[in-house]
Amino acid sequence: MSAVSIPMIGRGPKLLEEMTTAEVAEALQRTDVAILATCAIEQHGAHLPLGTDWYIGEETTRRVIRVLAERGHQAVGYAFPLGRSDGFLNFPGSLTLSNATFVAVMKELVGCLHHQGFRRFVLLSGNGGNGTAMLIAGEEIHRELGCPVIFLDPLPYQISYRSEILKNPAIDHHGAEGETSKVLVTHPHLVHQERSTFVEPLSDPRPYNFGPGVRVFAGRWEDFAPGGVVGDPRLGEAATGEKAYERNAAWAADIIEKVFFSVGNKAG
Ligand SMILES: [Zn+2]
Repeated sequence: MSAVSIPMIGRGPKLLEEMTTAEVAEALQRTDVAILATCAIEQHGAHLPLGTDWYIGEETTRRVIRVLAERGHQAVGYAFPLGRSDGFLNFPGSLTLSNATFVAVMKELVGCLHHQGFRRFVLLSGNGGNGTAMLIAGEEIHRELGCPVIFLDPLPYQISYRSEILKNPAIDHHGAEGETSKVLVTHPHLVHQERSTFVEPLSDPRPYNFGPGVRVFAGRWEDFAPGGVVGDPRLGEAATGEKAYERNAAWAADIIEKVFFSVGNKAG
């Protein structure tokens, strides 16, 4: 299928808040697919802004929309800034929503879009802590509105290939090479790489390993990493961020295409 033309700005497809209401109305003539990303405003060490996950969520959403458009499919996307960040609450500036509020917010935002005619939804996670609440929201949206919903978290996929793109993948974790690289793509002016250092965790974040099916809730982030970061942010570079964005966007677009845009697909 040939590419569709969609509203664009300098960096790529427009996100919802960059579109006019007329542009969304026009999009609704051609699609009923909406992507709702959720992100986080939370500490990312001394060198990255609190909005790191929000900027990453916005850019990921933008690129998924672009890849879909190149394949002839249109989607409208919005990246909600907040999510589940209570593990970081003792770091100044971090904001969090409770699970109950977060689930309600996702359902109400999807409800607005459903009211306007969107009928198929992608919940795209932009923060590792958001998944549990997003699964609950996705299930309830599906049951209550009768709409197909896809939940996507690129993080496990990204971990599967990170040794191919990172210089030090072994302990790349919060605020380190991977995230620094991504912020350098879109917001280099907000990255203070001169303040970054290599940090190993003080302790094992998951000291108990009983295998799948067991999770022990214990400790706080500052006990594990007082500086907020684990990994080597000094190695971050925009070229690495670019690779991760492209792979994650292709991965997400593949799944959305198979579920929503394949001929004869029940969800499509
Ligand atoms: Zn992050």
